[in-house]
Amino acid sequence: MGYQGGGFSSGPREMHKATCAECKKECEVPFKPREDRPVYCKDCFSKRKDR
Ligand SMILES: [Zn+2]
Repeated sequence: MGYQGGGFSSGPREMHKATCAECKKECEVPFKPREDRPVYCKDCFSKRKDR
């Protein structure tokens, strides 16, 4: 660790590889996936948000 000092940073967001908890598809998320939180791909995420 070290270069991630926090605060605001400009530029493109770093994408992290993750596996969707719903369809098990490999996807990329703009945040660091946490083990205690399920990660959803774009499709499943919008599906969940839809209702
Ligand atoms: Zn999915």
